[in-house]
Amino acid sequence: MEYFRLRGIGVSPGIAIGEVLLTERVIFTERKEKILPHQVEHELKRLNKAIERTKSQLTRIKDQIRKKMGEEHSFILEAHLLMLEDKSMRSGLDRIIREEHCRAEWALSCIHEKYKRLFESISDEYFRQRESDISDVLTKLYRNLESPDKKKKDDGREKILVAHDLLPSEAALKLSRGNVLAVAIDMGGQTSHTAILARSLNIPAVLALRNISQRVKNGDYIIVDGSDGEVIVNPPHALRKEFFDKKEKYEDYRRELRKTAKLRSTTLDNFRFYPLANIELPEEVKPALSLGAEGVGLFRSEFIYLQSTSLPSEEEHYLIYSQIAKETSPFPVYIRTIDIGGEKSLPQLKIEKEPNPALGLRAIRFSLRETDLFKIQLRAILRASAMGNVRILIPMITEIEEIVEIKILLREVKEELKLKRHKYDENIPLGVMIEVPAAAAMTDLLVKEVDYLSIGTNDLIQYCLAVDRGNEFVSYLYKPLHPSVLRLVRFVIETAQKAGKEISVCGEMAADPLAAIVLLGFGLVNFSMNPIFIPKIKKTLRSVEFKTVKKVIREAMALKTAQEIEEYIIEKILVKHPNAFLMGKVI
Ligand code: PEP
Ligand code: MG
Repeated sequence: MEYFRLRGIGVSPGIAIGEVLLTERVIFTERKEKILPHQVEHELKRLNKAIERTKSQLTRIKDQIRKKMGEEHSFILEAHLLMLEDKSMRSGLDRIIREEHCRAEWALSCIHEKYKRLFESISDEYFRQRESDISDVLTKLYRNLESPDKKKKDDGREKILVAHDLLPSEAALKLSRGNVLAVAIDMGGQTSHTAILARSLNIPAVLALRNISQRVKNGDYIIVDGSDGEVIVNPPHALRKEFFDKKEKYEDYRRELRKTAKLRSTTLDNFRFYPLANIELPEEVKPALSLGAEGVGLFRSEFIYLQSTSLPSEEEHYLIYSQIAKETSPFPVYIRTIDIGGEKSLPQLKIEKEPNPALGLRAIRFSLRETDLFKIQLRAILRASAMGNVRILIPMITEIEEIVEIKILLREVKEELKLKRHKYDENIPLGVMIEVPAAAAMTDLLVKEVDYLSIGTNDLIQYCLAVDRGNEFVSYLYKPLHPSVLRLVRFVIETAQKAGKEISVCGEMAADPLAAIVLLGFGLVNFSMNPIFIPKIKKTLRSVEFKTVKKVIREAMALKTAQEIEEYIIEKILVKHPNAFLMGKVI
């Protein structure tokens, strides 16, 4: 058995060691296998059976998803069932088998090709993208032509799932079964559906491995290191042992961290801070609270749009927001209005492709152009505010005029709700994200217009340093500790506090132990991050003295480079608190 290692993106930490369970890709046949005329009826029956099998599988998946993840996630499967019942597709398949005397596989291959060509010629982006749904249904059908007893049975043992890609429905079903040790996939990235799910279910996962699904087979022995983004196939004995040790250490470390969830969020000298969770799905609330989150500091609401094939209604928005608000109450929930446009395109809407999406019509710029959509969202957030401690958070603010416009729309929406006798929090706090350097530089002016601020360091760093946050060629320049980034962040935090307004950081910076210490040194109290990092940050901040950190950070701010700043902080903090960074390295 060949031994090799592959690098990808570690999207869910932890280590798993086990056997491969490959979800094979279906390749539609290119061979027209002929049958005799008297075999036609049998072939049609075979096709029929496959259709029935596919229907019952889809119905089963739909029900399970509805139970586990809610109604809105199951709509896509409803659409797949309807496609399967489409009369013209069915008669097309029958006709090919009858007239050309060929196997059902060939008929499916022809129909698949026909739809592919048809969809490729459609200019409307939304309809063109529906091709993947038809392809998905035909693929399931193709798989089901093979009789069930010939298929290799899943023996139910815990295995490592390897696939080229997983559809959201497949990911939800496979990962929630409880027998997946880890996930290794050719495609995907940090914010893909599989990544989010793996994180919330605590399953180690490495994505973007390019061709692992072609390089391994069922039964291969692999190690998935979700913390370091590495997969090792058929490792030699010594390496297995090394990873068993690493896994054990990691698990001890996780147990140790979990204990901190119940402890108070204070530094050694009693400075109170608040760990909050960044979430994308309502299902993440409970696990986040159990990890020690004291609220949801960022709900990325665009995920509601990205998961659906149609535009979500006010009711659909409301159901999700109110569920989150109820489950998080009495802690606060910051619902961010959609950050969409640019590269996060919305297939439901015709969004023009832009030459420079990061600087284009995204986030609040998009919402202020599509005010009908924006008002639907504002109405739903306001209604949910009757169920808990809800705040409105606006992404990518660049100028005061945008806030003025938002306030007018918000007033209109409140009036409409009053007329309809809907309950809502009249004083719902309105806050904006500081993600554009222009906004950061005028914090003193912006802060007067809103109830609170939240710094989105992921984007603020990208725009401040002119470094695309997703481009690996310039990632060496993406430095959260760059003196200019730190100057901006410090200015925003101090200015908000001087004005008596609440300020939080909800970018990845808050999840990095060293950067979190810097933020603490600036006086930050609200740290919002992916919930899996909360125990680590809590442990780090609990092991330092605010007074010392403040002094060290003030001194570090006189240094000229990110590296000097990092080295200085590590050296000075470690002198006083030798355990401060122990937790930084393992995850
Ligand atoms: C950010 O930019 O820091 C942020 C939290 O928003 P997102 O990562 O969703 O762009
Ligand atoms: Mg952002």
